[in-house]
Amino acid sequence: MAEKRDYYDVLGLSRSATAEEIKLAYRRMAMKYHPDRNRDDPEADLQFKSCSEAYEVLSDPEKRSRYDRFGHEGLRGVSMHDFSHMGFEDIFSMFGDIFGGSFFGGRTQRAQRGYDLETSVELTLNEVATGVERTLEYKRQDYCEACQGSGAQAGTRPQTCRTCGGSGQIRQGGLGGFFQMLRTCPTCAGQGQVVVDKCRNCRGTGRQVKHRSVSVKIPPGIHDGQAVRLAAEGEAGQKGAPRGDLYCYVKVKPHPFLLRDGENLLCELPVSFSLAALGGEVQVPTLDGLETLELPAGTQAGQRVQMRNKGLPRLEASGRGDLYVQILVEIPRKLNKRQKELLQQFRQTEEKTNGFPQIKSFLDKLKGYLSK
Ligand SMILES: [Zn+2]
Ligand SMILES: [Zn+2]
Repeated sequence: MAEKRDYYDVLGLSRSATAEEIKLAYRRMAMKYHPDRNRDDPEADLQFKSCSEAYEVLSDPEKRSRYDRFGHEGLRGVSMHDFSHMGFEDIFSMFGDIFGGSFFGGRTQRAQRGYDLETSVELTLNEVATGVERTLEYKRQDYCEACQGSGAQAGTRPQTCRTCGGSGQIRQGGLGGFFQMLRTCPTCAGQGQVVVDKCRNCRGTGRQVKHRSVSVKIPPGIHDGQAVRLAAEGEAGQKGAPRGDLYCYVKVKPHPFLLRDGENLLCELPVSFSLAALGGEVQVPTLDGLETLELPAGTQAGQRVQMRNKGLPRLEASGRGDLYVQILVEIPRKLNKRQKELLQQFRQTEEKTNGFPQIKSFLDKLKGYLSK
């Protein structure tokens, strides 16, 4: 087997090549020798394989340093990917980071978008029911007033970049190849302009901290922990880059009587044992105020009574949930003399009526059980 060629030679690079130069060189070679373009050409195939292998080593800092110190010998036992199976598209996409997806032209935007910000509002359940508009006050990095975000001192302007002539890109390659490659201009980082005299107000960053007041509409039915996104209300980007977003998180305060379960509500309502037995009207606190509920005679402890459409509105949908009233029957904890007498009289009548089917069924079962 023939002696292995030096990886730098294969890619036509010097030993001090930068990571970006390595990528560019490989890309140029891959375009030229890719099997899709060179059908049944064993020479091209070999070239493609060896430049893929060279790229694999030189693009990995660890493998590259082994190779620099020990040559091919240093890579024994090191696992290698096989780039030679990569299609054309894959090779394009692996360069997406440096070409910004603009290989065939267009301007690369490299400046950092502003950060997203978070804030929160506390709502009552009543506010959740109606939806609410709130004013948010906060501090953020905003565009500098003195330079309008350009970063250039007032009275001066950012100058057109001489390296790229303002396009933000420079051309590379193209000699003998099919493609001329565009890469982001290193002088202006793709901006097309450079600031010569930096703004004193923002020291050239184009930003300054400012107070902001913005109104947010919280839709009815929002849940605790959900957020409303206010597009482009976050921090300003560097040198005029777009703003981030503002996320307004919602915290729902507990209601003294109503417990939320999705769009439904639950209210625990204590009633006296005599009211439960006789039936009657009770007052239920709802989101629409106190409402009268008619309990039938013989209402049981733990029974749930449904009040339709008295729940919360459904988020981004129509209609409302229901309110469930859960009955807690309270047995008197103290009786006066008169009440005691009345209850004793009542008790003597209990067995003659069919008022306690559960107790009756239990006793019947017990009798049967004991007589076995
Ligand atoms: Zn400024
Ligand atoms: Zn430039």
